[in-house]
Amino acid sequence: MDTVDEIKQRLDIVQVISGYLPGLKKSGRNFKAVCPFHSEKTPSFFVFPDRQSWHCFGACGTGGDVFAFVMRQEGVDFKDALTILAGKAGVPLVQPRIEEGQSEAGRLRQINDAAAGYFHHLLFHSAGGQRARDYLQKRGVWEQTARRFQLGYSLDSWDSLRLELMKRGYHEKELVAAGLLVQKEPEGSYDRFRQRLMFPIRDASGRVIGFGARALDDSEPKYLNSPQTLIFDKSSTLYGIDFAREPIRKQNVAVVVEGYMDVIVAHQHGFANVVASLGTALTEKHVGIVKKLTNHLVLALDADAAGKMATLRGIQVAGLTFDQKVVPVPTSAGLVTREQLDAQIRVMVLPAGQDPDDVIRQSPGEWERLLAEAPPVVDYTFDLVVSRLDVNKVEDKTQAMSQLLPLVAQIQHPVRQAHYVQKLARMVGLDEKKVYAELAPAAAPRPRREAGLAPDSRPAAPAPPGDLLAGYCLYLLLTYPDLRDQAGDLRVEYFPQTKDREVFLAWRDAGDAGTLRGAIDPNLVEHLDSITSRSLPPLHGSEQQTALRQCSNRLRERWLKDLKAKEQVLISELEAAGKPTDLQQIQESAVKLNAQLGEVFLHGKEKRKRARD
Ligand SMILES: [Zn+2]
Repeated sequence: MDTVDEIKQRLDIVQVISGYLPGLKKSGRNFKAVCPFHSEKTPSFFVFPDRQSWHCFGACGTGGDVFAFVMRQEGVDFKDALTILAGKAGVPLVQPRIEEGQSEAGRLRQINDAAAGYFHHLLFHSAGGQRARDYLQKRGVWEQTARRFQLGYSLDSWDSLRLELMKRGYHEKELVAAGLLVQKEPEGSYDRFRQRLMFPIRDASGRVIGFGARALDDSEPKYLNSPQTLIFDKSSTLYGIDFAREPIRKQNVAVVVEGYMDVIVAHQHGFANVVASLGTALTEKHVGIVKKLTNHLVLALDADAAGKMATLRGIQVAGLTFDQKVVPVPTSAGLVTREQLDAQIRVMVLPAGQDPDDVIRQSPGEWERLLAEAPPVVDYTFDLVVSRLDVNKVEDKTQAMSQLLPLVAQIQHPVRQAHYVQKLARMVGLDEKKVYAELAPAAAPRPRREAGLAPDSRPAAPAPPGDLLAGYCLYLLLTYPDLRDQAGDLRVEYFPQTKDREVFLAWRDAGDAGTLRGAIDPNLVEHLDSITSRSLPPLHGSEQQTALRQCSNRLRERWLKDLKAKEQVLISELEAAGKPTDLQQIQESAVKLNAQLGEVFLHGKEKRKRARD
């Protein structure tokens, strides 16, 4: 039995959850409470002791095992939930190994993590930290927010971090490689970050990969980042993505801002779908990260940047991969590929002289309005060009054509392209056909597109012990790397056990299966190995795809059936208890659930109905 199972066996889910929700009350064989994850008056949050799982039948529709509950309730990742629950259960955890053989990347992450802990400690427990705390207070950042983002303070010293981390057994060379020390010539080193407010930068899985640091005096530069290292690359990192990942997926929109403080203040005020590019222009890699989560990106630009054609052209180029993509969509007929038509980038222009955090602090409503009214980047560019030219003049018409035509040529989707061709034609007083004729040579070579993962949402799950089906699905994904492109219809909620979910998420985020083992929590390695070491006959060619498709369909079917089963248990209990209000509420949610279950389920129901009739 691995650590995760041992913890589960020792803990009773009802006891753990009632520790967080004192209002949890018995309802038949199960327990219910007002859902802690969405706002409601009548309880639709249920705990099922038999299944050792929980589920909310209300608006948020979330569910899972005891780990999933703690992760959500405490707002932590799997690693922290594991620490919390292992403590409750009295089960010792496998500590990260630091001996030889550990991947260099893993070692660098560990060093960054240690540094983040040290800086965070100094923020609250050093005399100099007061200055950083004052600054945070001035910017309206609450203490709990500072703790959540693990903000820190670096001492006004050339060697305090070096001494501290070397005391903990790290080598000077490694600290240089992690970007925390600067190499001196011909020898020696010194702390890169001194007397600064420290922002640990985390990857999507919540691991610290670098730092942003703001000067607290007049030092230049005002903002200093970790240099490029083996694990840190500014052009492919979004600050806040670890916290924003689920909200982006749920709300189906990501907002990209520029500053650390913008992200922190946005999250503090409940706008958790906000991330920041680290002082660089939006890159294709940034878009790639967001694309996995949503097809809808909003860029918050300050008035200055938004007024520059170069900024907008940069966005358009980066957004090429965003405009249209083919995603596999599960339907009753199986898997079909469909173009995503509504993928778009919009531009949110901030009032002159204001940063996102100013806007949010002054008026969250104003932020929402700006977001709602943000025009698509192409429209914005059109308006910008028009505002600068007099399209009654011949030379300005020519200019408009030369500036806007390449933009229109890049739009991949024919219907959308036609819309802008029409707009452009009208603007310059040309026939649409003529614009089309000009379009062909203006078209840039198109980058090859890869099939992305369909964005998934609404985690919800049953929890049978020892999940063979999920294990087989993960086995296929890990054994046959080519299946990555075929896995678009797999959703995280198909994996009821958090440990399977974590492996699935790690696989999804990992470049390849090789890096996955180093990236995953050490307490999951045993589970991972138990999946990959299955001795099954090899599958060839299309057999692999067929196996995955069947497996995925079965996972989906199981997920739907389990939801129905849970509902059924509740309905019969409430009937027995004679509680018409609750019953009605559950039945209403059942109707909602059915609507969400999609075509597969409805199709099956119709078939059964026909069979009965
Ligand atoms: Zn809920």
